[in-house]
Amino acid sequence: MTLILKNAIILDVKKQQKIQRSIVIDSDGNIQHVFSSNEIETYLDHSTEAKVMDCEGYYISPGLINAHAHLFASGKPLNKKVNPTFLKLGYKLLSTKIGNFCVKNIMKRNALIELQNGVTTLRSLGEFFYQDVSLRDEFIQKRKVAPTLLVAGFFLSTTDGHGAPYLALEGDSPWEGRKNVRKNIKKGVDWIKICVTGGVTDAKKLGEAGSLQLTEEEIKAICSEAHKNNTSVAAHVESTEGVRIALKGGVDTIEHGAEMDEEIIELFKNNPYSLKGYSSLVPTFQAAAPFALLKPELTGLNNITYINGKSIYYSMLKGYQQALGNNISFGIGNDASMSFVTHYDFWRELRLHKKLGSQNNFEIIKAATLQNAKLLNIDKEYGSIEIGKKADLLITSKDPTIDLKNLSEIVSVFKHGQPVAQYKYKKYKNLDTLLDI
Ligand SMILES: [Zn+2]
Repeated sequence: MTLILKNAIILDVKKQQKIQRSIVIDSDGNIQHVFSSNEIETYLDHSTEAKVMDCEGYYISPGLINAHAHLFASGKPLNKKVNPTFLKLGYKLLSTKIGNFCVKNIMKRNALIELQNGVTTLRSLGEFFYQDVSLRDEFIQKRKVAPTLLVAGFFLSTTDGHGAPYLALEGDSPWEGRKNVRKNIKKGVDWIKICVTGGVTDAKKLGEAGSLQLTEEEIKAICSEAHKNNTSVAAHVESTEGVRIALKGGVDTIEHGAEMDEEIIELFKNNPYSLKGYSSLVPTFQAAAPFALLKPELTGLNNITYINGKSIYYSMLKGYQQALGNNISFGIGNDASMSFVTHYDFWRELRLHKKLGSQNNFEIIKAATLQNAKLLNIDKEYGSIEIGKKADLLITSKDPTIDLKNLSEIVSVFKHGQPVAQYKYKKYKNLDTLLDI
């Protein structure tokens, strides 16, 4: 049946304007018309079967897109390191058939929490046992009201590199890199995720978080193999030299990022080995800020991780500001599942962009919708409220262009024109106070 969302204030992210309109959604979940008040009355006079939802006084944004997330964990704040023996045992249990089933169920629950909080599309950059591929397919085949998932399967890392051995396929040469790309593509991934440098949480020495792991040669081979299959490559990078070799190798997106120099700025804007001819940056402030800005007692960090975390955060911040100043393409993702990054507060990442950059709220909403859709190559169907696109919509009672936190004042969420059920889920105490940083 046709559904009409009547007389809402819609956010036109393309033109950066708010305008009162009614949205007509067809039975396939596509936006069929966007009418002014006069036009909708005429339309209603002539249409016999339509369900009307009165949206007077409500705001409708395009569904949010989280360009960097994971689904394997809740994002519960952790204040101590997990014991390695426990980790090994846990991994063994989860790699069984029943274990895989549990992993998928956790991911499903987290994906649905993202959706009911307005995230209608999510790029999941690294999960266990290809359960992300399986979940994506289940959502599509069973026609579930669920977020659109773009998935990457296992990371591609060096032996003992970031995420290895549990979350990564290890490889130590260009040919091993190519082989691991082929393995992931055979499994059905949408993106290839590589780890060019170390990470904050697994670094054991000062400065190691951004140290180089993959080589430029390996990255080039991985990108060329992925691009041959029209698959884009996302790179975890936490240092300037890492960004340089990742871009030279041809990656399509830099995740997290670091301070840039002239050569790097030029490579972002004109990258001959990338799929589009340019590369984009996706900083993840929500994951990095707690490590850098909260007291170590709260994050349970040892001194090395704390100092590493701080320098990575400020370098990422510098890189983001340079991207804005130099017109480099960027997207918004929050690294959900990491400690302190839950599946119900993506608005916090948007608010951090406001706090740390020079963009206004409307521009940031555009970045988290249309710009992210473009970055993920899905802007023909998603990212804005336009005739012919999918009706992925977030209805709020307050204006998000006034305060990005208003994105959490949710009246309802629609996915492909279907209303999203609002279930109860666990929230963590004190996050609002802790994360007001
Ligand atoms: Zn991540």
